[in-house]
Amino acid sequence: MESLISEDEIKNEIIRISKVLYDRQLINALGGNISGRVPGSNEFWITPSQVFKGALTVDDLVKMNLEGELIEGVYKPSMEWLFHAAIYKVRPDVNGIVHAHNPMVLGLTLAGKEIKTTITDEAVLLLRRIEKVPFKLPGTEVLAEEVAKAASTGARALILENHGVIGLGTNLLEAEAIVELLESIATIEFVSYALGQEPKEIPPDEIEVAKKYWGI
Ligand SMILES: [Zn+2]
Repeated sequence: MESLISEDEIKNEIIRISKVLYDRQLINALGGNISGRVPGSNEFWITPSQVFKGALTVDDLVKMNLEGELIEGVYKPSMEWLFHAAIYKVRPDVNGIVHAHNPMVLGLTLAGKEIKTTITDEAVLLLRRIEKVPFKLPGTEVLAEEVAKAASTGARALILENHGVIGLGTNLLEAEAIVELLESIATIEFVSYALGQEPKEIPPDEIEVAKKYWGI
C-alpha cells in the first residue's frame, strides 16, 4: 500500500517542481503543467492557466475532479487538464503527472532520433517504456484521447511530438524524475551524435539481469 500523502504535501510538491522545471529551462514562463491526484479519490490539484510558472504559490493551484468540475481555486485550471484527467482515468497507478517542453528531447525526436531507455541503468529502471503521441492541438479532446491511448500501454514517459513530454509517476517526485531523466538521456545521446557516434547501449543480457534484480 502506498503511503498516503496529504493535500498540503501534494500542493507543495507541485510548487517545488514548477520552480525546478522553470529554473532548468524545461518550461518557459507560461508553459507546462503539473498535477497530483488526491490519493484514493477522483480529485486532483493542478497548476493554473496563464500564471507565471517560475513563482507559483499554493494559493494559485486549482482543485478539480476527473469530470472537469472545479472544486477549489481562484484561477482557471491549465488548458491541459483534459489529458491529466484522461491519464488518471486509465492509470490508477499514477498519482503524479508532470508535463514539460524539454528542448533536447524534442530536438532529437524531431530529428528522427529515438530517446533510448537502454543507455544508462537509471533509464532502464526509471523510464522503462516511452510512447510517442502524434501532434494534436494543445488543450483539445483529441489530444487527451491520444495521450490516454499511449498512457494505457503502461508507459511512464510520453513524448508529444512537436510539443513536449509527460512523466507519469506513482507520485509527483517520480513524475518529475522521469521528465528530468528524459532530458539527461537526450543530452547524453546528443553528445554521442555530435561526436559522430551512435550512443552505445547496455547489452540486452545485462538489462535482463538488471530487470530481474530490481523486480521490474
Ligand atoms: Zn505543453
